[in-house]
Amino acid sequence: MTKTRTPVAIADGRAFGGSLRVIVTHEPDLAAAKSAVDEIVQAVDLAANRFREDSELSRVNATPERAVVISPLLVKLISAALRGARLTGGAVDPTVGSAVKLAGYDADFAAVPRDGMAIELIVSRIPGWQAVVLDAGSRTVRLPRGVDIDLGATAKALTSDLAAAAALSQIGRGGVLVSLGGDIAVAGEPPPEGWLIQASEDSGAPIQEGQETISIRSGGIATSSTTVRRWTRGGVALHHIIDPDTGLPSDGPWRTATVIAGTCVDANIASTAAIVMGQAAIEWLEGSRLPARLVDRTGSVHRLGGWPKPSESTFVSQQTHRQSRQH
Ligand code: ADP
Ligand code: MG
Repeated sequence: MTKTRTPVAIADGRAFGGSLRVIVTHEPDLAAAKSAVDEIVQAVDLAANRFREDSELSRVNATPERAVVISPLLVKLISAALRGARLTGGAVDPTVGSAVKLAGYDADFAAVPRDGMAIELIVSRIPGWQAVVLDAGSRTVRLPRGVDIDLGATAKALTSDLAAAAALSQIGRGGVLVSLGGDIAVAGEPPPEGWLIQASEDSGAPIQEGQETISIRSGGIATSSTTVRRWTRGGVALHHIIDPDTGLPSDGPWRTATVIAGTCVDANIASTAAIVMGQAAIEWLEGSRLPARLVDRTGSVHRLGGWPKPSESTFVSQQTHRQSRQH
């Protein structure tokens, strides 16, 4: 058994209605890293927050049938969403906007009532990502009437990637981890034992001794879950991940999917897709060679694509600013 303890420095905050955590391996770099991350978070919020009337995305959604000039950042964010759609055969599709709203998720989640009157749920295929015309050259995007883009499945994760890279380039040494509500990207030189990450269904869960923990050295990891952002209407349980085929909250076998990939955005594309694809996700994830941990409705855990067995996993110590591992 080897045990390594490497001190790291942590800054916590809030972003996109969830938690923000920045970790650096060189303590003196923490403030500079955090401010580089904050800058990216604010820029993405202004570009892509569907709950802000003054965001670029709200302007795009409110201006159908016209080529709208957008910032390079929003081009990147929409490109990532369309890449997600291509990679997943449309299981992840940014044209879920209206369906997400119709299901009741029409404000910052904190402001969405957890219970309410019955709503009429109509099965209807979402418009489909092919309807989005993005021209990166002229930096324009054009939507048909009635199509609302929602970047929820990719924007937060891409922000983690961009923020980790920006923080590293700002501080110029060591390693950085950025977590936005559990969507995690790392950059630079990791601690000797890697970045230790506790697998949980709720990113707000406390770090605890003995929980399943994995170590990553590069890229990203993301979790999608139907257990946290959920609400009921007329006694019917609803949640925030939409099946594009029906336009309704998906009802497959997995309640939580965690995926490791070369970037956080690719991990999140795969984790959202896994929830939507259901049983078919197993073959798709194995074909994509992405390590994944799926939790089914009964709480049973399925590990795929080289995700370590719990006995091979590392375990994190109670103090998050210390990292420990055991073999
Ligand atoms: P989390 O936000 O908990 O990390 P995800 O990364 O899976 O979960 O993102 C879910 C968000 O993505 C939803 O809140 C919604 O905004 C959007 N969304 C829901 N269903 C889909 C889908 N099929 N394709 C693309 N985006 C989706
Ligand atoms: Mg996510």
